[in-house]
Amino acid sequence: RHRAAEAAAHRPAITSDGVTVAVAGNVGSIADAADAVAQGADLAGLVRTAFLFLNRDHAPTVAEQEEVYREIAKAFDGRRIVLRTLDVGGDKPLPYLTRPPEADPFLGVRGIRLASKHPELLRDQLRAVAAVAADHPVSVLLPMISTVDEVRAARAVLNDVAPEGLWIEVGIMVEVPATAAKAAVFAPHVDFFSIGTNDLTQYALAAERGNAALATLADPLDPGVLRLIDLVCRDAGEVPVAVCGEIASDPVAVPVLLGLGVTELSVAVPTIPLVKAVVRGSDRRACRALAAAALAAESAAEVRALVGGCG
Ligand code: PEP
Ligand code: MG
Repeated sequence: RHRAAEAAAHRPAITSDGVTVAVAGNVGSIADAADAVAQGADLAGLVRTAFLFLNRDHAPTVAEQEEVYREIAKAFDGRRIVLRTLDVGGDKPLPYLTRPPEADPFLGVRGIRLASKHPELLRDQLRAVAAVAADHPVSVLLPMISTVDEVRAARAVLNDVAPEGLWIEVGIMVEVPATAAKAAVFAPHVDFFSIGTNDLTQYALAAERGNAALATLADPLDPGVLRLIDLVCRDAGEVPVAVCGEIASDPVAVPVLLGLGVTELSVAVPTIPLVKAVVRGSDRRACRALAAAALAAESAAEVRALVGGCG
């Protein structure tokens, strides 16, 4: 029985009406990568490379980064890995990046915004990523994107450091509400979207993530947040849309996300088998009807009740 469960974990997750959904792992260490593969991850949908930059007094060298990214790629053994460029600032300062203090770091120089202030950081990181991409399927994911210019600038750096003729896919995190609203504008410039519902919810509902007093308010299933996800799915055209925030591993949210048109769920490693099971138990046509009702609901609680009463 154990072996049967293990075999199921490694099979793709296909809905009852035949839609394949990629179930990916969120990876924050080399150990996570091995665990994710053991749990049946189809890919690494979000590698939070910040782990390599935290708790030290200088930035990791290109060689150091390359070694770690290579280890993760090797663990994934031919499956795609999505390396997110450094996402610090906000709540995650670094001792070797001296930045003026900010009154509101969550609205400050964080994620990709740091790249214009410290161009060498992004350049070194993309050098390491490009070296690994020459041997393994690697994509780049840009955090906290709010303008197309930020994508253009990062692509220019990547083109500069990548070996001649090597195409590396570039996707963006959708965490800023204005970015969701501009999905149609971004679509021609990106290879994929990955919706970061943790930050998207924080910014859409003006409720700081991690503030326990606002936990009920800051629910990614709030219809206002779902409408932003819907916008991205509708305006993405042929560009695939993933969700990599915590909500992607909530069994209540999975059918709603599938109904909205999300085709990849990148989740906390231990929840990969559960998410695959929920996908297999879902019918995409039923999910579409559910998503339509969720968009018209008045609260996250109502959305949760809808899902509970479905199937
Ligand atoms: C998110 O914001 O939803 C996300 C996945 O990124 P992080 O949690 O690392 O900010
Ligand atoms: Mg985020």
